[in-house]
Amino acid sequence: MTTELIPVPAFADNYIWLVCKDGHAVVVDPGQAAPIEAVLKQRQLVLDAILLTHHHADHVGGVLALQQRTGAPVYGPASERLPACDHRLQEGDTVQFPNVGLQLGILDVPGHTAGHIAYHGTLSTGKPVLFCGDTLFAAGCGRLFEGTPAQMLDSLGKLRALPANTLVCCAHEYTLANLRWALQVEPGNLVLQQRWEADSQLRSDGMPTLPSNIALELDTNPFLRVSQTSVAKAAASYAGTGLETPVDIFACLREWKNNFK
Ligand SMILES: [Zn+2]
Repeated sequence: MTTELIPVPAFADNYIWLVCKDGHAVVVDPGQAAPIEAVLKQRQLVLDAILLTHHHADHVGGVLALQQRTGAPVYGPASERLPACDHRLQEGDTVQFPNVGLQLGILDVPGHTAGHIAYHGTLSTGKPVLFCGDTLFAAGCGRLFEGTPAQMLDSLGKLRALPANTLVCCAHEYTLANLRWALQVEPGNLVLQQRWEADSQLRSDGMPTLPSNIALELDTNPFLRVSQTSVAKAAASYAGTGLETPVDIFACLREWKNNFK
């Protein structure tokens, strides 16, 4: 059997990602235990590992219950306070979960939180995959709770450099709200307009808009497009002043999105 990648809905708009193959599973950011336990039971899966990207409660709230009930080891960022963590990871580390055909490398992506990490690698199908927590969203990025715009821009630079066909597994269904804002930034972006149509249809059918992919984000995500003239001009117009550097443009976009209703 090939690997399955399942977004398990939790809370109002979280996705907990489950990678499954041949009766085994690895879970990413289980903010709640119950929805994952239900899938494990229904599909008769053994949980091999729990992966964490950062310390926020909606990403770690189910860790202790899942660890106690399954005995699965917990992997997480080296420098964050977590409910449990058996393997502390930082950039350059690699982890392998052969039962589910998953090989992953670690990137340090500070900005949303100070010690946030991302997991990137390949599924058994050979398809590249990224678990980016709250760093990169479909047409958006995480808020800067513990980092600077320069740090976040650098972190997003690491993610935008991944292979174009990388499946982007974001931790929230924020897509339509982000696209509504992105269309204000780049009203003339045809790919963005098409994405709005396609993702609106998915949501009205009750389907997730994720995973996304790096190519689509490069074409439609303003936070990955600070070097595009259209995005730079829109940011300067919002700021009411010239913006000198990519960091200035990124900071302005983040502020704009924070204030967008
Ligand atoms: Zn978070």
